[in-house]
Amino acid sequence: MLKNLVKKIVVPVLDRPPISSLAKRVFSLGIPIFMVHRMQVDEQSCTGTSPDHLRRCLTYLKDHDYQLLSLEALIDALHRQSELLDNAVVFTMDDGYMDQALVAAPIFLEFDCPLTFFVITDMVDQQLWPWDAKISWAINESKQQLLRLHLDDEIIVLELGDVHKQRTARNQLRDIIKELATDRIPEILDQVAQSAAIEWPTEMPQAFTPMTWDIARQLEDNGIRFAPHSKSHRILSKVNESSIEDEIMGSWYKLKQELSNPLKVFCYPTGRALDFGPREIELLKKEAFLGAVSTFPGFVQATMSETRDKFRLPRYELPDNMVDFIQYCSWIEQAKVRTRWKRL
Ligand SMILES: [Zn+2]
Repeated sequence: MLKNLVKKIVVPVLDRPPISSLAKRVFSLGIPIFMVHRMQVDEQSCTGTSPDHLRRCLTYLKDHDYQLLSLEALIDALHRQSELLDNAVVFTMDDGYMDQALVAAPIFLEFDCPLTFFVITDMVDQQLWPWDAKISWAINESKQQLLRLHLDDEIIVLELGDVHKQRTARNQLRDIIKELATDRIPEILDQVAQSAAIEWPTEMPQAFTPMTWDIARQLEDNGIRFAPHSKSHRILSKVNESSIEDEIMGSWYKLKQELSNPLKVFCYPTGRALDFGPREIELLKKEAFLGAVSTFPGFVQATMSETRDKFRLPRYELPDNMVDFIQYCSWIEQAKVRTRWKRL
C-alpha cells in the first residue's frame, strides 16, 4: 500500500527533466514495444484495456514529448545500426477482433500514433475461432464450480467459483494446452465443453467477433499497418514442418491478397521463448521477413544483433495503470533492469 503510494508520487517526478535527461545520458536506453490485446466493451461483456486508459497513456506520451515510432521504423533503425531515439515508444496490437478495430484503432489514429496490427488471418477470414478464445468463452459461460479434465494419466481439476478463480483457471488451462502437440487440442476442447456443461456455438459469440477485411482495408487507408500473426494461432513449436510454412507464409500471402501494403514482420502466436525456435526463425529469414516480435519482456536495444535478435524482439503488455506505464516508457524501468534495483 505504502509502496504503491510512494511509487505513484515518485515515478512521475523521475520522468521529468532534469532527472530524466540526466538519466537518459547515464543509461544507454532502449525502446519499449507495447502490445495491446482486447478492449473493454461493456455492452459486449468484453474485458480488456479501457478506451479511457489507452487515451490517458497516449496523452501522457504526447504531453511529455515522447516519439511515437512505427515498428517498421524501429526495425529499419536496427538494420541500419543507427542510434535509437532515447524517448521513443512503439505500439502493436495482436489478433484481429472487432473491438480492437472499432475501439482501439480509432484511438491510435486520433493521436496520430503509428500502430502495427498483427492478425490471425483464418480468424479474420471467418473460418476459425482460435483455441484460446474458445477457452475464455467456455470458462465465462460455464455455470459449473469445477472443471475436471483427464490428461494422459493425470486428472486436472480447475476451480471456477468466482471471477478470480476463473481467471486463474483460464491461464492454467491455456498453459496446459500450450505444452501439448496441436493435434491434441480438439480432444481437450471437447473435454472442456463436456466438463463445463456448455456447447460450442455454431457462430462466433459477439464478444469474439473478428474484424472484417473491409474494415482492415479502411484502417490501412488511414495509416494502420497490418502484419501476419499466423493463420490459426497454433503454437509453432508444437506443429510439424509443413504446417509451420502454412501458418507463416499462408498468413502472409492472405494479407498480401487482401490488403495493399502489409508489413513483412511476423508475430509468433503466444510468443513465449518456448513457443518458437531456430526452425521458425530460419524460415522467416529465408523468406526475407524484416523481423519478428515475441511476448517476452525487455527493451529493444541498438546493440541487438541484426541477424538473431531482430527475429525475437521483446514486447511488454500495455500496463493497466498509469504509474506502471510511465515507469516502462521512461528510463526508470531500464535502470531497474540494469541495476537490479527492486524497490520500484
Ligand atoms: Zn495472439
